[in-house]
Amino acid sequence: MKIAELIRPGVIEFRDVDEPRPGPGEIVIRVDATLTCGTDLKTFERGHAKLPLPLALGHETAGTVAAVGKGVTRFREGDDIACVPTAPCGQCRLCSRGRESLCAQAVGRFMFGAFAEFVRVPAHIVRENAFQRPKHLSAREAAALEPLACVVHGSRRIDLKNAENIVIVGDGAIALMFAQVARFLSSGNILLAGKHDTRLEVARSLGFGSVVNVSETGLYDAVMQWSGGHGADIVVECVGRPDVWESAAGIAAVGGVVLLFGGCAAGTRATFDTYRVHYDEIDIKGAFHYGRADVRTAWDLMRDRSVDVRPLITHERPLSSLLDAFELARSRAAIKVAVSP
Ligand SMILES: [Zn+2]
Ligand SMILES: [Zn+2]
Repeated sequence: MKIAELIRPGVIEFRDVDEPRPGPGEIVIRVDATLTCGTDLKTFERGHAKLPLPLALGHETAGTVAAVGKGVTRFREGDDIACVPTAPCGQCRLCSRGRESLCAQAVGRFMFGAFAEFVRVPAHIVRENAFQRPKHLSAREAAALEPLACVVHGSRRIDLKNAENIVIVGDGAIALMFAQVARFLSSGNILLAGKHDTRLEVARSLGFGSVVNVSETGLYDAVMQWSGGHGADIVVECVGRPDVWESAAGIAAVGGVVLLFGGCAAGTRATFDTYRVHYDEIDIKGAFHYGRADVRTAWDLMRDRSVDVRPLITHERPLSSLLDAFELARSRAAIKVAVSP
């Protein structure tokens, strides 16, 4: 079969490899759909702080079980399945303190290579973070389980419930999922602040009334106007650029919380006004990855469509057009592209 590998930033090559076979506890999925993701895109453009190249890309995937390894009892050949590409060890210092998202083994044993016809799911993921997919949930929809789990994890780092004003900065898939999770958890007002009209239109189609393109007005002015000059009780940054991190801190209300969700390039720095942190008691937090409880909550939200990911998958491409899929995502013409072998 063919597998897409990132050789160096900007260069993808298709390699012929043997079809994977499941080892003990493992399964092999026949891929129905793998989604492009911001992480793929950033890695494609600039490499990744935690992932060395060459790298077989593709980790948001769903399909059908093609083969099961020894000892697998939860799944059988032919099962429709959804999974996320990691699982924590459950035993290390961080896992035992409830910080599974930071487990070194979670990211250390990442399942990659789903831009392919088949992908092997390691035993620890089969055990912890794989699910039977119900009939009403398409593979491309279920493939968004991983980013949704990240968003659920982010939502647990902040107190959305008691926020009156919530600003989501960004208009990509993460922002559009975060807004939906915020709406599910909170009765507060939500403003989506982005820069791409086509994507903001998707936000409107999801029922969000307060949506602003900040290309002209600027983020600060738009938020101050919307919030009557107070700023946001909660700011969720879903872009992943140091300059946006910096502006995110500027729009928080006194006593507000800023969740910096979007990962920035390795080695970058952001600075904040010390006054805001000290005298205004603004909390600045990060969020990374997810734990098992986050995956389960995400799976619940997805299955009953409390979070609807369907409008975020705007394009579809065959695997042979993977570069085209990346280009669509890079140019922001697409939100997510479903790539099918
Ligand atoms: Zn992803
Ligand atoms: Zn661990």
